[in-house]
Amino acid sequence: MKPKFIVCDEPVSALDVSIQAQILNMLRSLQNELGLTYIFITHDLSVVNYISDDIAVMYLGRLIEKAPTEVLFRSPLHPYTKALLSALPVPSLHNRQKRILIKGELSSPIDPKPVCRFAARCDHCTEECLRGEPPLVEVAPNHFVSCFRVAGKEA
Ligand code: SF4
Repeated sequence: MKPKFIVCDEPVSALDVSIQAQILNMLRSLQNELGLTYIFITHDLSVVNYISDDIAVMYLGRLIEKAPTEVLFRSPLHPYTKALLSALPVPSLHNRQKRILIKGELSSPIDPKPVCRFAARCDHCTEECLRGEPPLVEVAPNHFVSCFRVAGKEA
């Protein structure tokens, strides 16, 4: 078939770590050999970090942050991305970061209100966040965020 673009939907979830590594390495070598582009959908941030050039973070079906992998892991801007990354285990006794806990329940994705989708769980929510959905704004070269607070700071 000689595809140029492949959608990988949770290809390594529920596999043990050694099989995961074999599959990820195989995908990488195929990518180099055949010049493939992948869109790689996963909930596993370690896998995302290993396999991706660019990361798009979704919340309730909406893109809330997108950046090159190294930038996103070094300086996440959206409150949800920050909380996600704070949950990653750090293999150091001296460099432990504080975990940001997300409160509340995930809202229903059916017929969402026209407000920020993370508002009900966000510690920084203001009235502005409840007046409409924040647009996706490029706050630095190739770094896009959908958050009134972040966009306001960068403007
Ligand atoms: S727009 Fe407001 S509620 Fe939504 S993530 Fe940003 S600060 Fe939180």
